[in-house]
Amino acid sequence: MARYDYDLFVIGAGSGGVRAARIAAGHGARVGICEQSRVGGTCVIRGCIPKKLLVYASHFARDFEDARAYGWEPAANEFDWSRLIDNKNREIDRLNGVYLSLLSGAGVELIEERGVLADAHTVELGGRRITADKLLVAVGGWPWMPDIPGIGHAITSNEALELKSRPDRILIVGGGYIAVEFAGIFHGLGVETVEMIRAEHLLNGFDDDIRIELGEQMCADGVEIVNRTNPTAIEKTNEGYRVATDTGRTVEADLVMFATGRNPNTAGLGLEAAGVAVDDKGAVVVDAESRSSVGNIYAIGDVTDRLALTPVAIREGHAFADTVFGDRPWQADHANVPTAVFSQPPIGTAGLTEAEARAQWGEVDIYKSRFRPLKHTLTGRDEFTLMKLVVQPGSGRVLGAHMVGADAPEIAQGLGIAIKMGATKAQFDATVGIHPTAAEEFVTMREPA
Ligand code: NDP
Repeated sequence: MARYDYDLFVIGAGSGGVRAARIAAGHGARVGICEQSRVGGTCVIRGCIPKKLLVYASHFARDFEDARAYGWEPAANEFDWSRLIDNKNREIDRLNGVYLSLLSGAGVELIEERGVLADAHTVELGGRRITADKLLVAVGGWPWMPDIPGIGHAITSNEALELKSRPDRILIVGGGYIAVEFAGIFHGLGVETVEMIRAEHLLNGFDDDIRIELGEQMCADGVEIVNRTNPTAIEKTNEGYRVATDTGRTVEADLVMFATGRNPNTAGLGLEAAGVAVDDKGAVVVDAESRSSVGNIYAIGDVTDRLALTPVAIREGHAFADTVFGDRPWQADHANVPTAVFSQPPIGTAGLTEAEARAQWGEVDIYKSRFRPLKHTLTGRDEFTLMKLVVQPGSGRVLGAHMVGADAPEIAQGLGIAIKMGATKAQFDATVGIHPTAAEEFVTMREPA
């Protein structure tokens, strides 16, 4: 008789956990997985996918406006919030179903309960206990909000995706991915939007030129960005909420949303009982093979606070399953991961920022191009595209490529391949541009800035 109920038990059925479970089962392991919410996790249920559907929704108003310059006379712009949310929810339900059938098709047993570690081989699931040879912690993260008076009035991205009606005015606190993406969504859907950040510019960690350009374009588009300001209290009023700040300014809004980062979802997970080490944010500390301080317990995805991106979690899960159950060892590579922010205009980026490249390599050559996209030569819309290459002078290697402007996320994927391959500026230049596109600028920037 087998010593344990399962060869592998996964806690958390998000993108990373599901991938790991399916691949391990494909290698012949007896696999179970538990989920306390809905199978699909942050990305599918309350993150990337519903968010991007709302980004699409928010773009139509400006598309209708732009259409006039191209001869169209759009009909009245009626917008039905509940139809959007219902349609979005229908698609999320469909994807949830796809994930469920992926698990059952792979022969993975799903237990729809919260899992808590009792010891290094035992998981408690709503009153019953299972045992497993290997455990994988893939519980993701959860929005974090500062503890200021009245914080209970604020919502996070979780609730923002489920609003019953559209607010007239929103205050969004935070300058990261989620805050700028939702600022674009609400503004595009006709909501008076204020974004409050504690720093000088949005998107700490991104290339400075890109950060500044995005901020300027969002302001020009009508989003108010209040920088160097921290909210200190939220008070309910007859009309909505009043938010006090450390600069003395107050902001009135119908809805206050905090997007001030996410924490690993490890509270009450029993990690101490199993002896698993966590860092000061509660993230599971893992090695390059995603192994925790306890030899048979692994962790992948946002709970490890490495790169909180779905495709990274999926790779970590796949590498874990191949390595531990498939006798095919490999490691997820966290270098030069391209990423996009679905702000308006969006950002696509691959490789090092100028500041990172200077810190690592000293001198760098910078190539930049800023232009009005062809589409807006007719519309006259004040929207610009900025592209930037960071190049190592001696080798000519392109260390970073950054873009803010229409289609940047789509373009960044190809740039990511070039940078991963170690492409040089000369190789970029030897590539014939595709005309007329914005992307061709990346192969036609001749002189360093
Ligand atoms: P981020 O870490 O990206 O941003 C958090 C923001 O909150 C920062 O602007 C930060 O300011 C600010 N902040 C933190 N603490 C406070 C505080 N006490 N008071 C005021 N402001 C504060 O977190 P997000 O929640 O936006 O996103 C979490 C992660 O999810 C991202 O890092 C990303 O990895 C992932 N994600 C990816 C997406 C994509 O791929 N398109 C989309 C959405 C999320 P400061 O910069 O000054 O520290």
